Amino acid sequence: MASTTTTLPRYRGLCGAIVTIREHTTRYAYDSESEFGSERYGHAWECECGVSGSSVEMMPHDRPRTLQRVREAANEHAAQCRALPPTATK
Ligand SMILES: [Zn+2]
Repeated sequence: MASTTTTLPRYRGLCGAIVTIREHTTRYAYDSESEFGSERYGHAWECECGVSGSSVEMMPHDRPRTLQRVREAANEHAAQCRALPPTATK
């Protein structure tokens, strides 16, 4: 897993804040409902303005779908976001 490098898209908001997409895995301690084990896979997006979202699915093969959904959400946010890039404080 650590050896696979996935290039994920990034978006720039109207005023320069960057929206990044990352892979997202959630582990549950116990899940009696699922026959697929206790992990959920997906993608999440996060903007430098602090807004974020995610799309999570059960199976690893759903990842391309969650990426598509998260990509659209990230792009949509970038098209509306007027946040400036964070200013370095040091
Ligand atoms: Zn934003």
